Amino acid sequence: MDEIYLNGKFVKKSDAQISIMDRGFLFGDGVYELIPVYNKKIFLLYKHLERLKNSLNLIGMKFIDGLEDTIEKLISINNKKNYFIYLHVTRGQQQQRNHVYPKSIAPTVLIMCEEYPSYNQEQITAGFSACVQEDFRWLKSNIKSISLLGNVLLKNLAHTNGYYETLLMRNNKLTEGSASNVFIVKDSKIYTPRLSNELLPGVTRDLLIDLLKDHHMKVIESDITHQDLLDSDEVWCSSSTNAVVPIVRVGDSVIGSGKTGDVSLLAHKITKEFIRDY
Ligand code: PLP
Repeated sequence: MDEIYLNGKFVKKSDAQISIMDRGFLFGDGVYELIPVYNKKIFLLYKHLERLKNSLNLIGMKFIDGLEDTIEKLISINNKKNYFIYLHVTRGQQQQRNHVYPKSIAPTVLIMCEEYPSYNQEQITAGFSACVQEDFRWLKSNIKSISLLGNVLLKNLAHTNGYYETLLMRNNKLTEGSASNVFIVKDSKIYTPRLSNELLPGVTRDLLIDLLKDHHMKVIESDITHQDLLDSDEVWCSSSTNAVVPIVRVGDSVIGSGKTGDVSLLAHKITKEFIRDY
């Protein structure tokens, strides 16, 4: 996992260097993807590359050719079975620090392998807790931007207060978590905020909607108020790092029975099976 890819070369992580004039470093001017590798096989790569293309397009950058081959090469270099590919593209470096970027500028491309903890069945069954905050991030949260200061502050707010995640409300509408999408269950129906500029179109969110529908569950993309969230029977967060993380307490409110509910367990099970068979 020592080897990384940076601007056309495979180098040791400890030897990799970028310029202090890189716009990613100076402005957070870039986008990224985090893609799971399960059993040495990259998971839903085309979905992540599609989203990357969209993010690049939304910040006025062209798609990078040959990414798939480079990722495959990096996977073959690494011996590990399960980890994540972190793919980071910045607008590149320029001579002077200037908000205005030149027309022709070569992007910086970094691809490296990262590990994140996953939760065991006991933890999933017990469930996690979350807090709620006003979503103070920018209004282009559909771009998977490397400018993550808002998300970083919000995730750390959860972490320092003993919560798994901070759930975000904008104008009394649930948007997402600081690093996840959110689903709620009420009367056996599943609800998740509809896609907009206010949230990331999660690859796991998409997958879950399809899998749940295949299992004859009703999934509704709609507005969810703070009260809807507190009144729900079940809540879970979804992301590539941990596909389904059940939330059984939101702030001081207990959700449902206070234990992970059946629909969350089903969502967790069917994604686990899909990953196993992928
Ligand atoms: N929303 C935010 C803000 C995220 O950072 C993430 C993942 O990192 C997600 C949603 C979930 O996206 P995905 O399922 O594609 O990992």
